[in-house]
Amino acid sequence: MPAFDAEKDYAPKWDHDTDTLASFLTWKSASHHNQQTKRLIDAILVPMCQFVREELKQQLANQSTTVRIPGLQDIKNREEETQQQIRTLTNTVNELTKQVATLSARPTPITRAAPVATLAPTQQSPKPPTTKKPTPPTAPTYAQVVEKQPKEFTEVRSKKKAKKETILPKPYPTADRLIIFSLTTAPNDRKEAANRALQLVNKAITNHADIEHPPLILANITATNNLVLTVAPQYLSTTYEPYLAILEDALHEFPIALSRISQRWTRFIVNSIPTTATPEAVRTEIETNYPALRMGQTPRWLTSPERRQGKKASSMIITFIGEMTKKSLGATSLAMFNRECTITEYIMFGPTTQCNKCQTFGHPTQRCTASNYTCAVCAQPHPMKNHPCAIASCKAGHSCNHPPIRCSNCHQPHKASDRNCPTLAKITLGMRRDNAAPTDTVMAV
Ligand SMILES: [Zn+2]
Ligand SMILES: [Zn+2]
Ligand SMILES: [Zn+2]
Ligand SMILES: [Zn+2]
Repeated sequence: MPAFDAEKDYAPKWDHDTDTLASFLTWKSASHHNQQTKRLIDAILVPMCQFVREELKQQLANQSTTVRIPGLQDIKNREEETQQQIRTLTNTVNELTKQVATLSARPTPITRAAPVATLAPTQQSPKPPTTKKPTPPTAPTYAQVVEKQPKEFTEVRSKKKAKKETILPKPYPTADRLIIFSLTTAPNDRKEAANRALQLVNKAITNHADIEHPPLILANITATNNLVLTVAPQYLSTTYEPYLAILEDALHEFPIALSRISQRWTRFIVNSIPTTATPEAVRTEIETNYPALRMGQTPRWLTSPERRQGKKASSMIITFIGEMTKKSLGATSLAMFNRECTITEYIMFGPTTQCNKCQTFGHPTQRCTASNYTCAVCAQPHPMKNHPCAIASCKAGHSCNHPPIRCSNCHQPHKASDRNCPTLAKITLGMRRDNAAPTDTVMAV
């Protein structure tokens, strides 16, 4: 009997086939074999098992790289899809955050006095006032977008810093929240009279069936005998206009000469007015020559009588009802007293007004006499918008928050615009100590 050669006789057949070993083992146990065959079988079983074991190891190693777990590709595909959705949503959120930031700069008033038409008839096209920004009705709110996001994506956050939210919503400007009653005589005790007035109007507001508006929050009697009432922060005083008669009635014990709702005013400086003219005459001239303009306060001279002494013409501050600029007014001068009086825009400033050029307090940028710029970030002599920064990711300019940061007023490491600057605090404290009455100054620019 020829020698049994496992490699030669069996290898081709059990290459990658463990079944061969299994049938060989079955054949060994099931058959009666003579001693020589048994020895032969045992002699080949050892290398055969070894061979199969190696073979299996090899197969296993190969499988680990090509192994296909059902659904794995699906998971991979889904992950890619998810990443794409996250990218799209992040973009949307960024875009909407930008929109929200521009739109929520201040609340859109519910009602507002109609803007005064421009003087020039050619410019009377229905141009919206520049200060109003209507909310696009189609833009979804941030909350709606968040709500639309599938649950598993709620962790996605815009990389932009979230706007600081306040507990109380942003109020309307005080100027849009006043109801004013002019009194003919001064009360003995202004504070006490103001308290009484607030009590009376709020009793009327609460008890009157037609009034759904909330009570008023402040009452004050000014030095010029105006009883000034302030409505709640989330309301405009114009929404109280229908109740003016009711409020007047509630205040019948006060000597009311006139009542009105606060409106936005725009002030201009009108130059070259003959010093012989009276403020009342100027008012009449303007109202006669420009019926489209509604005047607020009676005009007043910009300078003192002493300063006007010996001058033929001088400037007056005139107040128009409504918000406007020289551009929206549509004129650069007003004709009165047989002359063209040029107009300039008016700005107000006080001791705490900070100059954007030299960073000191007490004058507006337009009035700066400094020859060099002072950076509000680092106090070096360059405009703040040119402030450099070594940090690559920094936008530099005003947004830079990296050292060296120095205040040119107090030399401490904060920006000159920091509202907590001790120099500013000193000025504010001084103003309070002096109880400085009218600190604001008027100027033409
Ligand atoms: Zn300056
Ligand atoms: Zn700088
Ligand atoms: Zn920086
Ligand atoms: Zn400072």
